Amino acid sequence: MTGSNYLLESGDTKILIDCGLRQGGNFAEVENFNPFPYDPKEITAVLITHAHVDHIGRVPKLFRDGFAGTVYSTAPTKDFSEFLLLDSEHLLSREAEKQGQPPLYDVDNVRKALENWKRVDYHKFIEVGPFRIEFYNAGHILGSAFIKIEAEGKSIIFSGDLGNSPAPIIPETENMPAADYCLVESTYGNRLHESTDERRAELEDAIEDTVKKGGTLMIPAFAMERTQDLLYHINALVEEGRIPKIRVFVDSPLAIRLTEVYGKYKDYFDQEAKELIHSGDDILNFKGLTLTLTTEESKAINEVPPPKVIIAGSGMSQGGRILHHEMRYLPDPNSMLLIVGYQTEGSLGRRLLSGEAKQIRIMGTDVPVNAEVRSIQAYSAHADQKLLMKWVKGGEKHLKKVFVVQGDGEPSRVLAEKIKNDLGLEAEVPEENQIVEL
Ligand SMILES: [Zn+2]
Repeated sequence: MTGSNYLLESGDTKILIDCGLRQGGNFAEVENFNPFPYDPKEITAVLITHAHVDHIGRVPKLFRDGFAGTVYSTAPTKDFSEFLLLDSEHLLSREAEKQGQPPLYDVDNVRKALENWKRVDYHKFIEVGPFRIEFYNAGHILGSAFIKIEAEGKSIIFSGDLGNSPAPIIPETENMPAADYCLVESTYGNRLHESTDERRAELEDAIEDTVKKGGTLMIPAFAMERTQDLLYHINALVEEGRIPKIRVFVDSPLAIRLTEVYGKYKDYFDQEAKELIHSGDDILNFKGLTLTLTTEESKAINEVPPPKVIIAGSGMSQGGRILHHEMRYLPDPNSMLLIVGYQTEGSLGRRLLSGEAKQIRIMGTDVPVNAEVRSIQAYSAHADQKLLMKWVKGGEKHLKKVFVVQGDGEPSRVLAEKIKNDLGLEAEVPEENQIVEL
């Protein structure tokens, strides 16, 4: 992932849009430790599109390096960022040690960032120097935004990441308003997503089969969004009486904290979720659900007789509490590992998914894999090519030029070509550190 970071300049005022962490095979790539290609002291403000680490991960470093301005984002983005930046600090200091570098930032830098971080509502204008700024709902994760900025009689839109609408809980991506220029993300610029309509039914099957066999269902899941997505679906299955009574554990402190943030911002939910809440359903909570925050509570899950469901991080079984459960239950032929997210090449999750591993090594112990390994079509929070094109087409009449960003080379090139050919718009894939005069 690229680590989004854009600088916009008008007169003497410089602002940034996002300040993300570059991620690859490692949690943080070595480039993150390099100085910024601008002087952070000269920046007035940072606008944050959403709370993924590749958009917020270097904000504390900005403060460490002398930035004394204000950060702006929606309220949920600020709350999520607090937990994610503190969680990353932990992982980053280990990464820095491995690479023989000083840490990227410390807890004080995170505190400083949060003290200077203002909340902005969608469609409430803010002004920074000559810039007039408006946040729109990007439909990507809760609180996500794309941002329109006007100055000198010109306007530009930064897409951030755009959502895979319709998605559970999250409202649909708003249409693009009139603007002269836009930057559009292209993570899936060359791909179309398969339909994910079957996901809830597949989850139902996995739970029912686990109950029948009296085993344990382990679901490795990312703390952000994927866990809440699972809770939303399981809640519906419970409320509709479609699954037998079963204990469900969320065994991840980060996922529990992030789920609490969801609870604070029900106003940001989509219509369907709001209506469910209005009818008296607490959509991320149901009978049988237990959140295990402490290590003692986590260990106590072992004492609960099966059948049971355990949702825990990390999402690719690369670390976290899921490993303890995998050690315990992968040898059990009545248990199941359910993979619900993308598994990167070389991860333990990927090896388990491939079905080749009959025995794996976890924390120095050989663990036989007798449990069933099943997967559900991974749900992506990103718009695919069709949705990206639909969004850009919304601004077709006004756009003078489109900049295609945030994709690995191929997806960006393919999307830029399609925008040129199908919409007849000028489109370009900018290089890193390229300067454009608008
Ligand atoms: Zn994102």
